[in-house]
Amino acid sequence: MDSVEHIIGLPMRVYIGHGIVRNLEIYLEQLRATNCNFLVITGPHVRSILESAVSEFFMKNTVDVITVEKADLDEVEKVEEILKQTSSKVIIGVGGGKVIDVAKYTAYRANVDFISVPTSPSHDGITSPFASIKGLGRPISVKAKEPLAIIADIEVLAKAPSRLIKAGIGDTIGKIISIRDWQLAHKLRGEYYASYTASLALLSAKHSLSAAKLLNVNRVEAVRILMEALISSGVAMGMAGSSRPASGSEHLFAHAVEVLEPGTALHGELVGIGTIIMSYIHNLNWRKIRRTLSEIDFPVTAKQLGIKEESFIKALTIAHTIRPERFTILGDKGITEHAAINILKSTGIIQ
Ligand SMILES: [Zn+2]
Repeated sequence: MDSVEHIIGLPMRVYIGHGIVRNLEIYLEQLRATNCNFLVITGPHVRSILESAVSEFFMKNTVDVITVEKADLDEVEKVEEILKQTSSKVIIGVGGGKVIDVAKYTAYRANVDFISVPTSPSHDGITSPFASIKGLGRPISVKAKEPLAIIADIEVLAKAPSRLIKAGIGDTIGKIISIRDWQLAHKLRGEYYASYTASLALLSAKHSLSAAKLLNVNRVEAVRILMEALISSGVAMGMAGSSRPASGSEHLFAHAVEVLEPGTALHGELVGIGTIIMSYIHNLNWRKIRRTLSEIDFPVTAKQLGIKEESFIKALTIAHTIRPERFTILGDKGITEHAAINILKSTGIIQ
């Protein structure tokens, strides 16, 4: 019997539907998050939409609003200071990945409630209890507060730029690999493995493939399915108590590129490419994944992403060093440069 304490952190409620952000006031009552000060963290493009959509909430409550543009430690410390000054007990993050990351990491450090109102379905960070914050040393996610509630307004999310929606598909398709890597770690290293949790993450990848097929036909329905995929992945991480079910070698590759060429591509785009590469190594049907992504004009080559081919080669050779404690198919020694070139050429990612 495993004597190590295992804590499962899950959202209390998930609200998903069309135009539902207008019900924010009602949801807060249902969550018993009333009679307190609120701190809303949002992005520069979202603020005006937010204020008109939830004007009643602003009228009835003591609400402070802060705009953040980056997900780094400086921004977190700035928000922490405002949180103290305003004595807010609930942080509501309304925006894209960076906003949600700052909101949930600040909520974790200050131990206050956090409500996630994502406005773009670009990666599963919008639903998970982990955050990517720059300035913490390593380019990987850290423990953050699980959302008290997720309010996923499909009307808002479907209006997100196509590039962000496709990135969300790339991030969730990666679970095909992360689950295989987790199984390998279990078999070869005796790592804890939970098949129910793994199934949830795999379901996320399946939903993501369905969303990709629907995207050019019915964008709203595709975004709804993608949102379910992101929630499923976030819940899997909450159940595992780590990002293990949702982040394997495909993410290590993505993080390695992010280190070498910061800010060039979106996280989900790099995970999508990582998924093609690791599917090839795992002997899965990488062609099908590449084809599915190509059909929605998802960038599947270094050139399409505007990243130097040498950076992709280098990233593949150093990916195993990004998070040495996370065992994946890349093993402890990683991939030689010669093999990396072969893999990237064979999958058509470089020429
Ligand atoms: Zn990710």
